[in-house]
Amino acid sequence: MAPLCLNSSFLPSSLHYLHSRSFHCPQSSSGFCFQTRTRSRSKAIRLSIAKAEADVRKEDIVIVGAGIAGLATAVSLQRLGIGSLVIEQADSLRTGGTSLTLFKNGWSVLDALGVGSDLRSQFLEIKGMAVKSEDGRELRSFGFKDEDASQEVRAVERRILLETLANQLPPESVQFSSELAKIETSGNGVTILELVNGTRIYANIVIGCDGIRSPIAKWIGFSEPKYVGHCAYRGLGYYPNGQPFEPKLNYIYGRGVRAGYVPVSPTKVYWFICHNNPTPGYLALVMLKHIWMRFYSAKN
Ligand SMILES: Cc1cc2nc3c(=O)[nH]c(=O)nc-3n(C[C@H](O)[C@H](O)[C@H](O)COP(=O)(O)OP(=O)(O)OC[C@H]3O[C@@H](n4cnc5c(N)ncnc54)[C@H](O)[C@@H]3O)c2cc1C
Repeated sequence: MAPLCLNSSFLPSSLHYLHSRSFHCPQSSSGFCFQTRTRSRSKAIRLSIAKAEADVRKEDIVIVGAGIAGLATAVSLQRLGIGSLVIEQADSLRTGGTSLTLFKNGWSVLDALGVGSDLRSQFLEIKGMAVKSEDGRELRSFGFKDEDASQEVRAVERRILLETLANQLPPESVQFSSELAKIETSGNGVTILELVNGTRIYANIVIGCDGIRSPIAKWIGFSEPKYVGHCAYRGLGYYPNGQPFEPKLNYIYGRGVRAGYVPVSPTKVYWFICHNNPTPGYLALVMLKHIWMRFYSAKN
């Protein structure tokens, strides 16, 4: 699924899985990779008659996680006339974060989801890219359409992307405060999801869109995510009277550090600093300031 891949330079790729005993879809034509696995060793689940009726639901398709992947999957299914239930551990959409720079493959997917034109109207088209060294030398500068006439680049605010996708869905199709605690298969191929609040959901198909620490990935048997030695700080600068920058990506490469900024809209600018860090953790603010000042003086 293209919009999810475009971000991979900043973060480890997310994991998306589909589990169903009767569903065979190793790779969809859109490139969205579903992993399937049959669980022959699963124990038969004895249903507790004492369980209150209200705590048990039956669903055809359950999507775990209302991030970009989960909502995009629910919208795609809905456009095919297939309903689904999205369960999300947070009590509302997790709209934090700054923005994601999407290229033409991402826009094709957003068009296919029916939200491309709405989003296009809110975000600037980025015309090109300038790359500088840490001492301010220009390493490369080019226009995107000079390289590929059909290229389309815009940075999209994560919050607006999430809200736009969620708005395509009937409100009751996203269920918040629903943290998956346990997942099992029953003898008859139904997957049983148990939430932290005790609710049990019996699902014919479960699609895991639960992010980097995915409980579903763990259940399927995928390895734990590995820290890659790279930390990122990002922010969204707000200019109430209009931001002054040209619509281009501005990157600065230094030793062990990469930084930059991208105009997002007439009033907002996305900035980031990525640096090598042997262990995950916070860079001291003073160090952050030092890096930023170093790059800022190189820029001017
Ligand atoms: C709060 C936040 C801010 C981000 N900000 C940026 C940014 O500024 N720029 C950028 O490039 N990328 C950002 N990212 C990363 C980017 O959005 C994702 O890494 C990428 O888009 C992959 O999306 P995803 O839907 O696969 O996973 P995620 O966006 O991580 O979504 C996974 C969802 O699953 C839910 N979930 C996890 N476990 C459970 C469970 N047990 N039960 C129920 N629900 C569960 C999570 O709460 C989350 O909403 C951010 C991610 C998050 C979560």
